[in-house]
Amino acid sequence: MPCGFTTTGANGPSTHGAAAPATDQEVGRYAPRVPGPVHDEGHAPTRKIPRSCEVLVIGAGPAGSAAAYWLAEAGFDVVVVEKKHFPREKTCGDGLTPRSVRQLEDMGLGDDLSRYHRFEGLRALAYGRELLLRWPKHPDYGEYGYVITRAELDALVARRAEKAGATLLEGCEAIAPLGAGAGSGGPAAGAVVSEHSSGTSHDVAARIVIVADGSNSRFGRALGASRDRTIPQGMAIRGYFSSPRHDETWIESHLDLRDETGAVIPGYGWVFPLGDGRVNVGIGIVSSFERWKSMNTSRLMEAFVSRAPASWCLGPESALGEPSGGRLPMGLSVGPRQGPDYVLVGDAGGAINPFNGEGIAYGYETGRIAAAFAAEALLTGDNRVLEGYEAKLTENYGLYFKTASAFMRLMGRPEAMRLLVSTGMYSRTLMEWLLRIMSNLIRTDEIGPAELVYGAIARLAQLAG
Ligand SMILES: Cc1cc2nc3c(=O)[nH]c(=O)nc-3n(C[C@H](O)[C@H](O)[C@H](O)COP(=O)(O)OP(=O)(O)OC[C@H]3O[C@@H](n4cnc5c(N)ncnc54)[C@H](O)[C@@H]3O)c2cc1C
Repeated sequence: MPCGFTTTGANGPSTHGAAAPATDQEVGRYAPRVPGPVHDEGHAPTRKIPRSCEVLVIGAGPAGSAAAYWLAEAGFDVVVVEKKHFPREKTCGDGLTPRSVRQLEDMGLGDDLSRYHRFEGLRALAYGRELLLRWPKHPDYGEYGYVITRAELDALVARRAEKAGATLLEGCEAIAPLGAGAGSGGPAAGAVVSEHSSGTSHDVAARIVIVADGSNSRFGRALGASRDRTIPQGMAIRGYFSSPRHDETWIESHLDLRDETGAVIPGYGWVFPLGDGRVNVGIGIVSSFERWKSMNTSRLMEAFVSRAPASWCLGPESALGEPSGGRLPMGLSVGPRQGPDYVLVGDAGGAINPFNGEGIAYGYETGRIAAAFAAEALLTGDNRVLEGYEAKLTENYGLYFKTASAFMRLMGRPEAMRLLVSTGMYSRTLMEWLLRIMSNLIRTDEIGPAELVYGAIARLAQLAG
């Protein structure tokens, strides 16, 4: 199909030669399946801000809404403050792996998800070669993922938490912890919450605070959290384009990302089809690359778009607005993640998988784990139970994230990245193992062979120091 003449999926609008929309709202025209806003921007929330609650959740992204859902479902009194109004944009690649899908299905959102764009696996491209890699068979995870905008996804999960009984306060921002010990390991005790529409602030006291305010986590920093700079972080940028290939059932990763001079840069570029006329296109790089600080992600994105396969029809004429980017705190690099009455979840705790930059699944998972410890603390009346949260994170992710971070240090060297990718592209078996390891989808009965590949990766990473 020639560029400029795209047809859309059953649910999407026609985008024949679509001009770039100027605003997020216009981009939102392509998202007809999103649950409608309960409160429009600028409208007062319909509920009054409660003065106290059992659990106060700060931020209604994946981590906060998952924590709120599990606690509300168990009958606890949960208040979630979200500074924006749903549906709201969030800079993301919009890719859900089987790990994310599992969590969403566990929250009862399987039917809602099935209305969105499902994909079978990954098409990896590099150095002129191409491999189609299906999601592996796994007893705990399905063999499919979805691509869904965060405007839609985050609204779905936040509404799910609300339906389970959580009080969701949109347009309400947590400004500062209430506790006197903030910044020195003392309790959070709740938060000062500012209601944007009225310009008023209220104290909301809470027995437990779950900090889920994302990668910049001002609230977490106010409680004394900081990033461990020895662990690499990521930087990524993405934009939307209309494309005739918008309804492909494979997501695409380009593992030989290049700058404008054609030099290979450690990182990858992606094209994720949304099935509604659009594709999400972006690039990600890691801070272990020595030229990291001088990298201009907008220019890298332009270079990627100009080199992407012509059949995607990516270019200024198909771009839907300006790209936007953000930081990826990875490998549990932010801490302490637990204090006397609070825990940090998702990006606020640096919970992104360093291997692939995936953070949505880990937001859902850490939110769910935090909810379990918060529930136990409330039931026993003993907040020391929260100490188990950190131990559980270490048990679940510690070794895996440590190896992944070390591996990313190695991959920060363009030559090492080139060697691995160019070798891998000649071996389907190696690439299938890499996909399984990097997406954290190893079966227990595969631990033998997986350990061989994983061990080789770990040794390589150790060699790199
Ligand atoms: C360019 C890019 C592409 C990415 N692509 C993918 C991908 O394809 N797949 C994937 O799995 N991950 C991806 N990620 C990572 C993913 O976006 C994050 O890991 C994920 O959003 C983390 O969820 P969270 O709930 O911790 O934080 P967030 O999603 O950032 O949610 C935080 C929420 O808190 C709110 N908030 C912040 N401060 C306050 C406050 N003081 N008071 C009240 N509310 C507040 C915010 O408005 C927001 O709604 C990408 C990241 C980037 C930057």
